[in-house]
Amino acid sequence: MADETSDGTAVSRRNYLKAGAATLSGIVFASGNAAADQHTADGGSGEDRLLITDGTVVTVDPQHGVLDDADILVEDGEIAALGTNLDAGGADVIDASGSVVVPGFVNSHLHTWEAGVRGVAGDWSFLEYLEKMLGEISANYRPRDAYLGNLFGAVQQLNAGTTTVLDWFHIANTPGHTDRAIEGLEDAGIRAVFAHGPPGDDSATWWDNSDVTHPDDIQRLARTTFPSDDGLLTLAMGIRGPDYSTDEVVAQDIETARELGIPASMHIGSLGGGGVRTLDELGLLGDDLNYVHANRLSDAEHALIGESGGSVSTTPEVELQMGMGMPVFGKAIDNGAVPTIGVDVVSNVSDDMFTQARMALQVQRGLDNQDTVEAGQQIQTVSRPARRVLEASTIDGARALGLEDRIGSITPGKRADITVIDGGDLNTAPVHDPVETVVFQSGIENVDTVIVDGEIRKRNGLVYNQTAQEHLDRLVASGRRMLRESDI
Ligand SMILES: [Zn+2]
Repeated sequence: MADETSDGTAVSRRNYLKAGAATLSGIVFASGNAAADQHTADGGSGEDRLLITDGTVVTVDPQHGVLDDADILVEDGEIAALGTNLDAGGADVIDASGSVVVPGFVNSHLHTWEAGVRGVAGDWSFLEYLEKMLGEISANYRPRDAYLGNLFGAVQQLNAGTTTVLDWFHIANTPGHTDRAIEGLEDAGIRAVFAHGPPGDDSATWWDNSDVTHPDDIQRLARTTFPSDDGLLTLAMGIRGPDYSTDEVVAQDIETARELGIPASMHIGSLGGGGVRTLDELGLLGDDLNYVHANRLSDAEHALIGESGGSVSTTPEVELQMGMGMPVFGKAIDNGAVPTIGVDVVSNVSDDMFTQARMALQVQRGLDNQDTVEAGQQIQTVSRPARRVLEASTIDGARALGLEDRIGSITPGKRADITVIDGGDLNTAPVHDPVETVVFQSGIENVDTVIVDGEIRKRNGLVYNQTAQEHLDRLVASGRRMLRESDI
């Protein structure tokens, strides 16, 4: 079904991509500015003011809670006011009546570049993944492929209601790869923490008890590409950590991150435990460290993460598939860590936060119920409210990335990163409990509007990104070439 936009460009409302034809169809991109689809409250230009009206607003801010029929006023990219019947003459208006409005999701762990090889690794074990993806395919990425992967990976995150990603970039094969990947994020218009990682050209050097410290290019990035920490893109360091590098390298890498004043994220505990104990013995624990997966860590190690103020990224679907162990969403909460949710790799699994959050919560409930089930008894109450995983997908993700003062909740003074979910669709209506609607009932198909830093990235179910529209066939060609040239 094609609609006509105001500038006559044919677009489709369907949320999937088609490429390879002379003209694109089925893609949710449209030419022009999303604002062209809006009307203004009093006919004014309203360029810098946006009013989202009459929504059921789940603020994820304890001070404001859930507000019915509420308005959100956005000025210069900032949430200026929250209330009812706000006076905003001249503002562009988004009618959110019948919709649930939430903070944009924060995906705390994504290897965005793998969008080019989407859906090839769903039957791979972790060892197969290490051999084929990090030992083979990643070496075949050229800078242009890194650009395309990051552009499309990030645009699809926006399409799915995610406004911030931590992009864990481990194909820093050359500075050109890194620069192009960052350009892809910029062109997508997403908020991102770019976690610069190691090259992907030689897994034996970088991932097998590596004695090589983090590439010096991180210094260039900190100095020239990310000179400030208040832009849409900020810098972090994707370190190998104790599971993949020597103690000396771990200490040096964390010291580098701390000298630069940026967070460090590491995969840990998916092959075995002991890594956090090592960090403790080396005196390196801190609230600037993000632990990805953490499945096989001991209870004592989870306690150490919590005591030190660290955050845990649970990516349940890939962890269950690859044999890393059971997701630790509940363990992170119970030990006082900052619990967050991530997607990890779209080469394997679904890329939306709805799926990952739902899976994290329900698997955890299964784990919580297990003793009662094994005793042949019935549970009396369900563990972990839905609200908790929505917090993990928004404000806790922001906290883990050091962005909680800017995003993660719908709070006046924060940047306007907002997702509007249609509550009038077949699978969402009627909305009785908006949190349950979001956590259990909604999917990508219900994401109506996405706003990042006050800019509309998706409106009426359409993603607005001309660059992506022009490059879709190149993404497909890029992915096919890499698989053709990889020995997998
Ligand atoms: Zn990962």
